[in-house]
Amino acid sequence: MPEPSDDSIADILNQVPSKQPTLHVPQQSKQDGLRLIVVDAGHGGRDPGAIGPNRVMEKTVTLQLAKKLAEKLRAELGVKVLLTRSDDRFLELKERTAYANRVEADLFISLHANASLSSRTYGLETYFLNLSKNNQAAEVAARENGTSLEDVSNLEAILFDLMANAKINESSRLAAEVQQAMVAGLRPHFNRIKDLGVRQGPFHVLLGATMPSVLVEVAFISNSREEKRLTNKKYQEKVAQSIVAGVKSFAMTIDRVARR
Ligand SMILES: [Zn+2]
Repeated sequence: MPEPSDDSIADILNQVPSKQPTLHVPQQSKQDGLRLIVVDAGHGGRDPGAIGPNRVMEKTVTLQLAKKLAEKLRAELGVKVLLTRSDDRFLELKERTAYANRVEADLFISLHANASLSSRTYGLETYFLNLSKNNQAAEVAARENGTSLEDVSNLEAILFDLMANAKINESSRLAAEVQQAMVAGLRPHFNRIKDLGVRQGPFHVLLGATMPSVLVEVAFISNSREEKRLTNKKYQEKVAQSIVAGVKSFAMTIDRVARR
């Protein structure tokens, strides 16, 4: 179970810098696209995230995946990659994007495993920060935020002001590339890979990021087949490899835009 939240609305408002943050706009002259990516392993420490029927913890698999992803991004894209955490420690949600902002990351990728009350629900989905368009997205957001649905709807009002800085369009494009690449990359190797698509939600962990940011739910830990997969080295390997492919496609479109 997630920790009770200390994310009161007042607290969230306090996170809004009084001065508008400088938008990190990639320089037009930069032809090589991405330089630095921050990979965020969801949860950690006293926050285990969701726990599967066989007691696998989300915080454990997100850390394993984050390390694999970082390694592959470095090797295949030649970019610098920093992790928000490289061990089992607790981090506030706001610390995660604050870190990405501080190091001036070009992308922020937060890794998670999904959970549902129905043990039969399974599949992969990728989120970017936006006003919640449906209850299901709000539920996932409430769980990942460690807050109630009510807080999520209060948050929506505040979000409206923050969205200008959230790089919605680029984040949505990054989400689409990553989601597509995961489905294409996993289907040849695993059966029952369900594409739940790209979604929008009010995720605290993406709030305040000034670079394109996505939250990836790589499987449902509440489904025993997918819980097992989450601990499977090959699955982790293929997920990481697919996310790299998605980032690569995204970077290619940045290059095209920059060269216009
Ligand atoms: Zn999570």
